[in-house]
Amino acid sequence: MLKVRFWGTRGSIPVALTAPQVRAKMAQLLSAARGEALHDDAAVGRFLDAQPFHLTGTYGGHSACVQVDGGSQEYVICDLGSGVRAFGQSVLARHGPGVPQTYHVFMSHLHWDHIMGLPFFSQAYIPGNRIIIYGCHAQLREAFVRQQAEPSFPVDFAVIAAQIEFVQLTPGVTREVAGLRVTAKEQLHAGDSYGYRFEQGDQAVVYSTDSEHKLEDEALTQGFVDFFRNADLVVFDAMYSLADAISVKADWGHSSNIVGVELCQLAGVKHLCMFHHEPAFGDADIARVLADTRRFEEITRTGAPLQVTAAYDGLVVTL
Ligand SMILES: [Zn+2]
Ligand SMILES: [Zn+2]
Repeated sequence: MLKVRFWGTRGSIPVALTAPQVRAKMAQLLSAARGEALHDDAAVGRFLDAQPFHLTGTYGGHSACVQVDGGSQEYVICDLGSGVRAFGQSVLARHGPGVPQTYHVFMSHLHWDHIMGLPFFSQAYIPGNRIIIYGCHAQLREAFVRQQAEPSFPVDFAVIAAQIEFVQLTPGVTREVAGLRVTAKEQLHAGDSYGYRFEQGDQAVVYSTDSEHKLEDEALTQGFVDFFRNADLVVFDAMYSLADAISVKADWGHSSNIVGVELCQLAGVKHLCMFHHEPAFGDADIARVLADTRRFEEITRTGAPLQVTAAYDGLVVTL
């Protein structure tokens, strides 16, 4: 059984809730609680469960890092955004520092928001750990070395004590890693990016971020429909609204919620998870985009329903 854990879901740069944003959520929740009989913790829990997620939670925070858990002892993650720090802490809490682990990392591309977490991944500094970084870019190693070079960072890449390896992948060539079949696909993005399809048994999950889609190009569209085909879950770069994606932000290398729905419907996908959220969007904005996307999916539905969600730091999807 495949499980997908989201450790970082924000696009371009990590964001944090501000004090006024937290206070605004609390004010709305307290107003909603007026007249409710919240006599014990269970009643409080039930009340919170009935409130919208954008008030009781947050979409978060960290830049891209997504774990694909196929039940192996070895860990598989996509991208090393700031979310990998939280992932590392959870692994440390589970095993302690003295038990070496193997980490397989699949890099969509080498933009800063996708590599910035490695210097804060504590496992990298513990001898005995093995970190294998896969990607299709020739500059894979260079990008990580450079971000820790003077004067940008105080700890040089050479200080990394884990065994770290870089593996160049060829798009379209399937590889077995930690009990998963993994296939990369080239995507339209400044400097190129790559999506990954992970398969185990008859289950499939696709990680496709930092990817712009131009639906007028039928051959390109068909390539993505084939890549997404019958996937149980597609993690999709839905950074922009459609209006932005086709006007001011065309050619910025990202996609929209609407294009995500269209591609997933064509491919017979079961679940579309919107990802790489625009940093300027607050929780209420993302909730609104999610509601709009669900409405669009409903009115354009021709076959089986497509489940639509918005990723948040801490979300776990079990396929
Ligand atoms: Zn990005
Ligand atoms: Zn990018």
